Amino acid sequence: MKKQTKAIHTRFQRQDAYESLSMPVYHTAAYEFDNADSMSDAFCGRTDSPDYSRVMNPTVTFFENKVKSLTGATEVIALSSGMAAISNTLFSVAAAGKNIVTSRHLFGNTYSLITGTLSRFGVSPRLCDLTDIRSVESAVDGDTCCIYLEIITNPQMEVADLQVLSNIAREKGIPLIADTTLIPFTEFSSHSLGVDIEIVSSTKYLSGGATSIGGLVIDYGTCPGFGKRMRTEMLLNLGAYMTPHVAYMQTIGLETLNARYHVQSANAAMLAGRLRALPAIRYVNYVGLEDNPYHALAQRQFGPTAGAMITIDLESRNACISFINNLKLIRRATNLFDNKTLAIHPASTIFGLFTDAQRRDMDVKDTTVRISVGLEDTDDLLEDIVQALGDQSCKSHH
Ligand SMILES: *Cc1c(COP(=O)(O)O)cnc(C)c1O
Repeated sequence: MKKQTKAIHTRFQRQDAYESLSMPVYHTAAYEFDNADSMSDAFCGRTDSPDYSRVMNPTVTFFENKVKSLTGATEVIALSSGMAAISNTLFSVAAAGKNIVTSRHLFGNTYSLITGTLSRFGVSPRLCDLTDIRSVESAVDGDTCCIYLEIITNPQMEVADLQVLSNIAREKGIPLIADTTLIPFTEFSSHSLGVDIEIVSSTKYLSGGATSIGGLVIDYGTCPGFGKRMRTEMLLNLGAYMTPHVAYMQTIGLETLNARYHVQSANAAMLAGRLRALPAIRYVNYVGLEDNPYHALAQRQFGPTAGAMITIDLESRNACISFINNLKLIRRATNLFDNKTLAIHPASTIFGLFTDAQRRDMDVKDTTVRISVGLEDTDDLLEDIVQALGDQSCKSHH
């Protein structure tokens, strides 16, 4: 079966008593057993019968199995958020005395998890330039537990060469962990580019229009014991498993992912091209534009589409703030890949609690607005952007 057919027709693990066509939502905390032996077998992992919904729930397992069949992974673990997927993964691979080799260009909470929270537990951050092989090679040492990156960084839009990083990781016997949230796993195979563990914030493309918060850890089985440790240690001890209702919504979201993604990425490509013609916009950053510095690498790795997130640089911070305030159709909200187009000023929001020096270090500019392009008609989006820019340039003359 092709991916889109699998996304629709993956069967449940067991027949439902009422022949329900959709996977039922098993809203239960616990499961009953016929006798003490079958109970012991389930608790000790000798059977795969669910015992408690902190660790396993049939509705969540169904969602995990769909992702497994779409990615070819050996293990997929669904968690309560993208951050839970990242933190559970790093708790699983790191230990006191180890270091994580990564970039300064990271999602804000991932940056503070690695440089703040984890460093309090004796895991040190090694921030380097992941697009420079020498910088990575000199950062990795005998205590490095993983190389961690985002495939297109947000909001800088930097793309590193996954195969180059994978070669370094394999040589050192450590996993390459990639947050692939910005391009869906239905578009490209991160594993064939050398990624060992893939992380997705399923809040974004998968949830089916911003319905819910969720995260996925997709394990390709190349890091011995990792998937087992996630299930038998992290889910039990950290308690961040996905809930059945979220799994239900995201399973439905997965069915329409391909259709939504192709419209949204085409809208983003069209809009990016048209925004370049507007004089108030200093720079349009989108790896789908042919003269973007990462265009060729992004195409080679991710295929012809480039996602639905673009950033624009305006004249000043004030210009960004009034542009955002003037929007009428585009919504002022964080999040990515909602059905609605969303705009945000990252420096004053997502990165608002970092110092100016930290933001400079992370290349989060005061003059950047991030736009997540939705499913609307691009003529309407362009009209809103033009009017929002027009108003602000008038005001700035007064
Ligand atoms: C949103 C996001 C996250 C965090 O995911 P949540 O589901 O909000 O916890 C991590 N990485 C990237 C690239 C994201 O866009």
